Amino acid sequence: MRFEYLEPESIEEALTILSQYQGRSKIIAGGTDLMLQMRNRAIKPEYVVDITRIPSLEYITFDDQQGLRLGALTTIRALETSVELQRKYPVISQAASQLGSVAIRNVATVGGNLCNALPSAETSQALVALSAQVSVIGPRGERIIPLEGFFTGVGKTLLQPDEVLLEILIPELAPHTSGIYIKHSPRGPIDLAIVNITVLMTMEPDQKVCSDAKIVLGAVSSTPLRARKAENVLKGNRVDGALIDRVAQVASDEARPRLGSIRGSFEYKKEMVRVLTGRAIREVTALK
Ligand SMILES: Cc1cc2nc3c(=O)[nH]c(=O)nc-3n(C[C@H](O)[C@H](O)[C@H](O)COP(=O)(O)OP(=O)(O)OC[C@H]3O[C@@H](n4cnc5c(N)ncnc54)[C@H](O)[C@@H]3O)c2cc1C
Repeated sequence: MRFEYLEPESIEEALTILSQYQGRSKIIAGGTDLMLQMRNRAIKPEYVVDITRIPSLEYITFDDQQGLRLGALTTIRALETSVELQRKYPVISQAASQLGSVAIRNVATVGGNLCNALPSAETSQALVALSAQVSVIGPRGERIIPLEGFFTGVGKTLLQPDEVLLEILIPELAPHTSGIYIKHSPRGPIDLAIVNITVLMTMEPDQKVCSDAKIVLGAVSSTPLRARKAENVLKGNRVDGALIDRVAQVASDEARPRLGSIRGSFEYKKEMVRVLTGRAIREVTALK
């Protein structure tokens, strides 16, 4: 396949190229998804726009006012190994550590993982659970989009072909909030998930009543799925074994796996959602 490889050195230059070759160009970051899609001829861009020379898109910063900001070119390996993330937002590091191999994580970027928009994408559940927003820029200016609404289908997002994802914005966590990310796959990180889940819980200071909860399921819908009914069963209630079983069943009822998925039957995925939801809540509340 023939294509022209362009390497803009600034956002402005990238936007000019994307506007000029709209519909015929594709951004490349780490290339771990894009190159496979090009090799399989699933996409045939005439222009490949390498944004990795733009220096200002790779960072992890945190401050009390603005919360956490991740540049789109931040590698998955950087998310995994950042001591600050491990301390303040461990679900991000846990999710990152489950993506592919170290070799893949060294080049794969968080922006690429979100823009590729697979329903099993490792970082998307954790970031939806954390109420992340994404900042995107295009010829019409910059816009901020809640990540939960960013995904519109398998491989589809609100991003226009002439826009670039700049950064991910994550608010500070409420006190007494903790969470966990669990991936279920046959061969560990190197495989895509059959089901993955992030549970985030805010507990009352006595640590027994759950005041807020986010349960986000992956690979059981065309986009990351908030199990809102299950969250509502948790919220305001004292967490014990019976409640956990009820929440797990409600989450399973909410899952909408695709019939005929090669990565697990409808029934198996639903059952795994039940098992993993229960396991995740038990881990977070240390009710084992
Ligand atoms: C062996 C192997 C194992 C893998 N295992 C996993 C896994 O376990 N879990 C998982 O989630 N993924 C997995 N992946 C997929 C892939 O590694 C990730 O999705 C990765 O994060 C993609 O990032 P990238 O920088 O390589 O994206 P690229 O391939 O460069 O781009 C992916 C898509 O996003 C677009 N894009 C990238 N950056 C931007 C931006 N800033 N603005 C606008 N559009 C952008 C590109 O145009 C393209 O459409 C695996 C891949 C391989 C090859």
